[in-house]
Amino acid sequence: MSPRTVDVLLPLGLDAPYSYLLPEGMEVAPGDLVHVPLATKGMVGVVWPRTGAPQTVDTGKLKAVKAKLDYVPLPPDLMKLIDWMADYTLAPRGMVLRMALRHGEAPGAGRERVGVRATGAKPERMTAARARLLALLSDGFVRGKSEAAREGGVSPSVVDGLVDDGALETVVLPPEPAAYPPDPDHAAVALSEAQDAAAQVLRQAVDARAFAVHLLDGVTGSGKTEVYFEAVAEAIRRGRQALILLPEIALTQAFLERFHARFGVKPAEWHSGVSTRRRARILNEVASGAVKVVAGARSALFLPFRDLGLAIVDEEHDPAYKQEDGVCYHARDMAVVRARLCACPIVLASATPSIETEVNARRGRYNRLALPVRFGGAKVPALTPIDLRKEGPPRGRWIAPRLEAEINHTLEAGGQALLFLNRRGYAPLTLCRSCGHRMRCPSCTSWLVEHRYRRRLTCHHCGYQAPVPDACPACGEKDSLVPVGPGVERLQEEVNALFPAARTLVLSSDLLGGVERMRAELDAVAKGEVDVVVGTQLVAKGHNFPGLALVGVVDADVGLGHGDPRAAERTFQLVHQVAGRAGRGAAEGRGFVQTHMPEHPVMRALVKGDRAAFYESEIAARQEAMLPPFGRMASLVVSASEAIAAEAHARKLAASAPISPEVRVLGPAEAPLAVLRGRHRWRLLARAPRAFDLSAYLRAWRAVAPRPKGNVRVAIDVDPQSF
Ligand code: ADP
Ligand code: ZN
Repeated sequence: MSPRTVDVLLPLGLDAPYSYLLPEGMEVAPGDLVHVPLATKGMVGVVWPRTGAPQTVDTGKLKAVKAKLDYVPLPPDLMKLIDWMADYTLAPRGMVLRMALRHGEAPGAGRERVGVRATGAKPERMTAARARLLALLSDGFVRGKSEAAREGGVSPSVVDGLVDDGALETVVLPPEPAAYPPDPDHAAVALSEAQDAAAQVLRQAVDARAFAVHLLDGVTGSGKTEVYFEAVAEAIRRGRQALILLPEIALTQAFLERFHARFGVKPAEWHSGVSTRRRARILNEVASGAVKVVAGARSALFLPFRDLGLAIVDEEHDPAYKQEDGVCYHARDMAVVRARLCACPIVLASATPSIETEVNARRGRYNRLALPVRFGGAKVPALTPIDLRKEGPPRGRWIAPRLEAEINHTLEAGGQALLFLNRRGYAPLTLCRSCGHRMRCPSCTSWLVEHRYRRRLTCHHCGYQAPVPDACPACGEKDSLVPVGPGVERLQEEVNALFPAARTLVLSSDLLGGVERMRAELDAVAKGEVDVVVGTQLVAKGHNFPGLALVGVVDADVGLGHGDPRAAERTFQLVHQVAGRAGRGAAEGRGFVQTHMPEHPVMRALVKGDRAAFYESEIAARQEAMLPPFGRMASLVVSASEAIAAEAHARKLAASAPISPEVRVLGPAEAPLAVLRGRHRWRLLARAPRAFDLSAYLRAWRAVAPRPKGNVRVAIDVDPQSF
């Protein structure tokens, strides 16, 4: 009989699985985790389904699988997702696999499921460490292996040694009891008519057990969450699982509490802030089906659900769903793929859907469920423009007199105000008054941003930090460096000067104290302990601040006019979402936008509250230019530590592009961030019609492209965010 072989995909930068011999008596199935030899060491990989006939390999040269691991296998739909993503993004299959293994499933992560107890036998050799461990275990109780080592103050190898000697035996621990499952009828809420209609469609979709995409398109405060909770409840009733993707971990606290109020328990949380141990446990219980609902960041996409019955992507327009390093993918789009592979419905929720999603809804590929009014009858605030060309503030100040007066009224009436400025830190630029020198990052094409709280100049692209120098590094003049332009910290200074009695707070992702402090601060705002909030885009996301009566957008133009077609969409979404924070409680909300370009179509649509007008003009512009979603797009960024090497390779790469009547290759040109972390970047864009298989074209291109030499790298991003 010829020796049996299996294909094992390794979590490395490789596209194809490696073949290994299967030792006699070992049975494995696709999805199983196995330990295999690689070079001089071993590695954990996954038995991969064989496509087509087994390759004819010289089995004499193959190494054998070392062991089959007692970890949760990857379910077939997850392996298909990994294959699909690798094909679509052109990332090596092994790197996509790595994202599915990175969390909790690394070797040893399942450790706590193995326990040890004393057998009573004496070890052959006694050491102080061994004696200590045996004394600890002399009570006869089972302890987790790592726990025993920790409590006994010995290294894990001491535990293993005693097991080998027969003084300890290993026991497979029963899984920890699953958390009390969510109760679909714990606290059902009375829905409005519109909510009820939408919920009914979603319940039916869950019952139908079929793939379908629903766009839950509801104005801010319309109660989208309550609606999709009904779909989650239905999935739980049917014994199936639900996945809820959320864009920002810091904000999940309020969400978890709402979930708790509705279902009696919190969902399982899944993001990088959850401990490895806890993640290993969640992963096991997601696989066993004990965990019914997972709320998580984009990495939750790769969990081994036993029976996924529903996926939800909340705030589907949020840019945080796009991963731009390593494997470039959009979590919303991949969630749609996963739902298709699992044959379950998916809900995309937003008050400002992405252009891609809006077009899919208009084409009828996604089913739109509209919630046109706020729950409880509150009005979405109207936005009033303040023309900075005519009624701007005096030099060195950023709050126009009219906005100042409105904030005053609001505060006098006991309301809260929120000022939005999407610039972190104190000032976006630091300049020498004497010679005009601008402080820039030594390794990126970007200005250094002053952060006063931290007393540092910081690069927002690479994280470089330096103290603010006493003298200009160019001309040596003392005390000549001045901040130019506003950041949120500086705006707070102005607020404090204008309204000395007001309690103010800056909400920005980079302040000291991390997630815990941010949660506390969001809570303080919700409770009315703050009068004026100054915030970055962090405040645009889904918060409920009941006392908030006024929103002022300090500079609505920041995002516009950069030549990036997506800037209009972003600005619209941000300003609309920020304004949507106001007027959710008793007080009626009002919004003001300071702008230099009140006649810009985006600004006009915002002011008129005419969302349809915005989508009309933006969709027409994208269609005209054949931009996504009307055309397909991929970016190829060539980077190198030498500018000349990056440019030269980009030119050679462009010249090697296969001729196709359908594909247009634009560039090469310097990438929007021409230098990043000391690497010079040149970019090519490939554009093709919608029906064209751009990924296949890119693969064919890569096959004939010149190989990058030295430290030259090429990064491919299919569906890039900027184009
Ligand atoms: P959205 O996500 O659409 O902005 P939310 O789901 O956050 O809206 O709902 C806005 C507010 O209205 C929340 O405070 C929520 O608790 C409340 N709400 C929504 N629907 C209901 C309902 N059916 N019964 C009671 N309160 C509701
Ligand atoms: Zn930098």
